[in-house]
Amino acid sequence: MNELSNSLAAADIAHQLHPYTNARAHEEKGPMIITRGDGIRVYDSTGKEYIEGMAGLWSVAVGFSEDRLAKAAYDQMLKLPYYHTFAHKSTEPSIRLAEKLAEMTPEHLTRCFFTNSGSEANDTIVKMVWFMNNALGRPEKKKFIARHKGYHGITVASGSLTGLGGNHRDFDLPAIPVTHLTTPHFWREGAEGETEADFTARLLKEIEDTILAEGPETIAAFIGEPVIGAGGVFVPPEGYWPGVAALCKKYDMLLIADEVINGFGRLGTPFGSQRYDFEPDIMTLSKQISSSYMPLAAIMLTDAVYDVIADNTAKLGSFGHGFTGSGHPVACAVGLENLKIIEEKDLMGNAARMEAPFQEGLRKLLDHPLVGEVRGVGLIAGIEFADKTTKVNYAPAGSVAAKAAALCTEEGLIARNVYETLALCPPLIVTEEDVAEILARLGRALDRLS
Ligand code: PLP
Repeated sequence: MNELSNSLAAADIAHQLHPYTNARAHEEKGPMIITRGDGIRVYDSTGKEYIEGMAGLWSVAVGFSEDRLAKAAYDQMLKLPYYHTFAHKSTEPSIRLAEKLAEMTPEHLTRCFFTNSGSEANDTIVKMVWFMNNALGRPEKKKFIARHKGYHGITVASGSLTGLGGNHRDFDLPAIPVTHLTTPHFWREGAEGETEADFTARLLKEIEDTILAEGPETIAAFIGEPVIGAGGVFVPPEGYWPGVAALCKKYDMLLIADEVINGFGRLGTPFGSQRYDFEPDIMTLSKQISSSYMPLAAIMLTDAVYDVIADNTAKLGSFGHGFTGSGHPVACAVGLENLKIIEEKDLMGNAARMEAPFQEGLRKLLDHPLVGEVRGVGLIAGIEFADKTTKVNYAPAGSVAAKAAALCTEEGLIARNVYETLALCPPLIVTEEDVAEILARLGRALDRLS
């Protein structure tokens, strides 16, 4: 540690309460201070180099040194650093980005609402759904169906949709009407002797039974990530999503695809709903939309959803919702440039091409005595630590994944421990040599894990 590192660490401990951190442990341990980035790599305040195997928080598609994004931000700051989009005002970057998103997302998604974060986007969606059903004269149709281990954010409404105890405990969540159903994870949740098709049928029956028990007239929407990310990386069983979509249609429920992690090529297709062959009514986008160089999220809507909301705004005189930063011109200019880079460099195609070396390389870790399952698609993966035959995770909860993540850090690879799983989600710019280097560092870390 150098002098600057020491004084920064002391100030951090003295003044900052960190998200997702044990504050008392942090006072002892201190921060890992990241000072610069270059491509898929970041460097800490001691000069140590790491491959960012998590793309930050599942988000930095274009890598950590894209000059074009810095220039887009600078140019927009000089021209118009801020303006809002309330009350008929608009700005060129927000217009161009909305247009671009309508062009990139599946054809039926035509309208866009901007927020600053994925949580705000999902909170907004909850309010939109309620606003819609009030407008349609069915005020009792307000409940949501979500899944255990699904992640939709941490604000009061989005945190309620999230199906993770750690986000609910002592926060008095869920605070909105939501039922969390079985995680679509065949390896863990499949019953003895059940085939994958049987498992899918059972989960779909669970959803339908819940709708019927609660009353279809009370269930407004189903929300899910095509592939669950932050809850532990869970790939759905065959036929699950088309089945969910059919139930939503049958019971006149909206289908919300939370593609905050999945969107823009992460799964090897432009959007996760395309990989799993379903058409959501509403889609949540964030993270790779701007490679997180600026906070930005977008909600995509069909014309049908938009029309109900729009008619009600005409009736009430306004849509009484929006953020100071909705459609922020600098964030939108950066987002637009980022999407151009993703297209010009064919990063979504690269993710599809890198799937085989990445996923196949990771599957070799199944030989490790502590690894229970390796799962993932495209450029997202999870390695779950459990006894292979009994599938029981090791005690204390999460300890092996935490140790694995710490060993990866020592070996120069940032991976993230989420519960019992070590997650990897590298920038979409990775080359085959990068993938080989990620696997080598991971292998060295796991060789030291006992
Ligand atoms: N939805 C999903 C699928 C996410 O993965 C996340 C964040 O990880 C969110 C929503 C919340 O986004 P934010 O952290 O920007 O509020």
